[in-house]
Amino acid sequence: MEFYANAEQEFNQPKELEPLEGEICPQFIRCGKPGCRCQHDRPHGPYHYRIWREGPRVRKVYVKATEVEAVRAACVLHRTLARRLQDVRQAKTQLTQSMNKEWRRTQRLIIPQ
Ligand SMILES: [Zn+2]
Repeated sequence: MEFYANAEQEFNQPKELEPLEGEICPQFIRCGKPGCRCQHDRPHGPYHYRIWREGPRVRKVYVKATEVEAVRAACVLHRTLARRLQDVRQAKTQLTQSMNKEWRRTQRLIIPQ
């Protein structure tokens, strides 16, 4: 019964924030249409893009004005999680090293040289 209650609650909740790589960058553009004010006056924008690196490539997607804040929050979440993952990996390395050291020490104690 509890399972169904939880499932229903989950279903009714707004979608959880998915982490997204990269960051939001505002950009101004000159459209290139002949006679457009942007040729001499200020360019169009700002338009917002999410920009991130994927291997050697830099990826860029347009972000609608209504979604800028949500995507920005998703990018912050991604950076936070990535940093935490890095911390966990570092802790794991240290733990493995100290376990190996301890194991070698124990072996020296139980196996006569
Ligand atoms: Zn223009």
